[in-house]
Amino acid sequence: MSVKVAVRVRPFNKFEIEQNLPLCISMKGDKTILFDSTHKKEFEFDYSFWSHDEFEVDEKGYRRPLPNSRYADQKMIFNTIHQDTIAQLFQGQNCCILSFGQKLSGRSYTLLGTAENQGLVQNFVKEIFQQIAEKQNITTKYEVYTSMLFTFNEIIYDQLSPTDGRDLKIKENALQGVFVENLTKELVDSPESFDELMKKGILKLQKCQTLMSVLVSYANIIIQLEIKETITLDDQKLENLKLINFVDLVCSDRIEKLKDSKYQYLDAKIARPLSTLLEVICKVLLLSQQQDKKIIVPYRDSKLTRILQKTLNQKSNIFLYLSISPAINNFQQSLSTLKFANKIMKIKNDIISNIKASENQQILDLSEAQIQTQSQIIQSSIKQEFENKQEQELNRNTQYIQQFDKSEKIQSDTNIRCQAIISTKDGIIELQPLSQESCGQIFINNHQVKELTKLYHGDRVSFGNTTSLLIQYNGIEKPKIESNLTLIQKDTLDESENNQIIEEQNKSLKFDQD
Ligand code: ADP
Ligand code: MG
Repeated sequence: MSVKVAVRVRPFNKFEIEQNLPLCISMKGDKTILFDSTHKKEFEFDYSFWSHDEFEVDEKGYRRPLPNSRYADQKMIFNTIHQDTIAQLFQGQNCCILSFGQKLSGRSYTLLGTAENQGLVQNFVKEIFQQIAEKQNITTKYEVYTSMLFTFNEIIYDQLSPTDGRDLKIKENALQGVFVENLTKELVDSPESFDELMKKGILKLQKCQTLMSVLVSYANIIIQLEIKETITLDDQKLENLKLINFVDLVCSDRIEKLKDSKYQYLDAKIARPLSTLLEVICKVLLLSQQQDKKIIVPYRDSKLTRILQKTLNQKSNIFLYLSISPAINNFQQSLSTLKFANKIMKIKNDIISNIKASENQQILDLSEAQIQTQSQIIQSSIKQEFENKQEQELNRNTQYIQQFDKSEKIQSDTNIRCQAIISTKDGIIELQPLSQESCGQIFINNHQVKELTKLYHGDRVSFGNTTSLLIQYNGIEKPKIESNLTLIQKDTLDESENNQIIEEQNKSLKFDQD
């Protein structure tokens, strides 16, 4: 659902040019500024269309913008605002297009245009038929029906009725919802056949205008398009209706301005549909945002809003076009036209700022939650890191302990393996490894010793990596040493034993440890 407001300013008309009336409108982006020598009123709408000047008329009579000009021509307006409207219509979003402003401000021009400058209605119809041609297939068929009616003084007039078509009644039932009873619906099969029907309706309207004098400006003219979609599946038929209402609204001028004061009693009755319409749009907007609140939309307060009910609700797209005169003499009227729609814009802006506020709150909540989560993550990662470090430390310690144990074991193994007996025989010192394991660990002058080996003066005997002996014969070439020496690496014997061995060694050998 969406409500869009667009304002459009027309060129000076003949009277305004003759009177040389000053311009009182300027536009900047989506802003419309109404000014005179002392006042400046600024309004912001969804769109502000400059159709005042900077245009040329082409060979076909079409008003197109001059190169690089800001003039908003008929097609440009349709293309700018209604890119998605028809696609959304086919998807089930009904549509209401309202044209509002003072008399001669350009309401009908925007909606219906002229033969050379076709308005929104014709552009819609062309696009609808184009989409139907693309969408239609064996199972899905479309039929387009059109009606034309107007309400004046709360009476409904059927403009396509072959008879009088006056004072139609509004009915409601479960099947059709709200509808105008006995309203003529003509099947149209092309934009051309639609144009023919429009001519017929407008002709009848002009007759009414003659009959009813100036009062036709105080009528709400409605053009309805009903697209019937029939989907055939096996033997079943499914029907969907898509509705679009174009409304050339009663002029916003107060009736007391009319010279003919005999109609003044109608003033309130004529103003009521407009105020009800505004109320309905505002309530629908509010309702679309506050589903839970019981907002009553006052459709029943006017025939106009009741007829439009199916296209003025939370499921539809609503477009309000404001037409304003560029001339200073219409300052007050233009001001009241702009103020009319400003109420809608205020609600829209409130809704937008509420949405933004709630989005911001959500973002805040989210970021708070994120911060919490982040800090939780950080805390847990710190904890994890700490635990990891502890574990690493523990592992390292365990490894260290294991290595230590291993080295201790190796050490003690080595001790066992490195055992050898050094003895003297006939003045010659000999070394006898004690076991097979010892052989791998005992070296004389870096040569491995595996069996009984003679030791000479200056030989260096190594046991594993830690202990070595330097053999010296104390100046005697062949000393006589009787005692046998058992060399067992330190720590494997108790100290007293060790001392004894060393003492014994010192008797004949100089014991040198690295
Ligand atoms: P309303 O329906 O509001 O009474 P009309 O749509 O009949 O007014 O416009 C009054 C006159 O101004 C018409 O002659 C119309 O062609 C002309 N007019 C209105 N809007 C434009 C526009 N945007 N560009 C050119 N001419 C315009
Ligand atoms: Mg008109």
